Amino acid sequence: MNEQRIALVTGANKGIGFEIARQLAQAGVIVILGAREKERGNAAVKALKAEGLSVQQCEIDITQEDSIAAATSTIKTEFGKLDILVNNAGIFDPTDGPPGKAAIDAVRQVMETNFIATLAVTQAMLPLLRAAAKARIVNVSSSLGSLTLNGDPTSTYYSSQFIGYNASKAALNMLTVQLSEELKDTGITVNSISPGFVKTDLTGYGTITPAEGAELPVQYALGETESGLFVESGGRTPW
Ligand code: NAP
Repeated sequence: MNEQRIALVTGANKGIGFEIARQLAQAGVIVILGAREKERGNAAVKALKAEGLSVQQCEIDITQEDSIAAATSTIKTEFGKLDILVNNAGIFDPTDGPPGKAAIDAVRQVMETNFIATLAVTQAMLPLLRAAAKARIVNVSSSLGSLTLNGDPTSTYYSSQFIGYNASKAALNMLTVQLSEELKDTGITVNSISPGFVKTDLTGYGTITPAEGAELPVQYALGETESGLFVESGGRTPW
């Protein structure tokens, strides 16, 4: 079997995804940098190639079935397998909010991107992941997806009521739990990783840099690990 590891990172043209792509490539992985918009993807690939990294672009809008199919076909033809899938692409909508007020269209779109589209990408990539020796699926989740923390008045996340975003990450965590079970007899691990509070375009502010936020997802993409976990930098996050 080809020992060279291949990774797909979705939504990797900026933010945490871009840094995940960079750190995976620095570790010697061939990185397929997923971006929904060609020019933004090109610019990101150019920047990483200028650092001498092995990165190639792949146009993939995770909400578009045709786009997922084309990306899957390209990876299959070129590599025949996928060792690492980082489901990073995600959105937040400012018109999301508490259940009594959130704009329903925003909730629908956030659920569609962060959960349903991520599930669709994962399904499409599964045959390629099965073709790798010990594949890793990393779902970039959020502590805001913890049902326990949402219901804990002492939690710092308690006041962050975004029914669409938080529910989308809770649903993503369900994907982690169920798929991990489904794949328990394979070498494939599936984990939900909370990157921390990262300063990106999605948040506008945060306490750590995208490079710092990328560290834990990269660790779970590269290392030996259990499957079916929900973790943040301090350890396990309650579901
Ligand atoms: P970001 O800088 O806004 O990056 C989001 C990325 O996702 C962009 O590349 C964006 O592409 C891409 N994307 C959005 N919709 C897409 C679609 N339909 N198809 C393909 N790509 C799509 O945000 P970020 O903070 O790095 O977020 C990355 C992930 O981390 C998200 O899943 C987010 O929920 C999660 N997260 C972030 C934080 C935080 O504090 N920042 C905390 C917990 C979890 P465009 O450039 O084309 O829009």
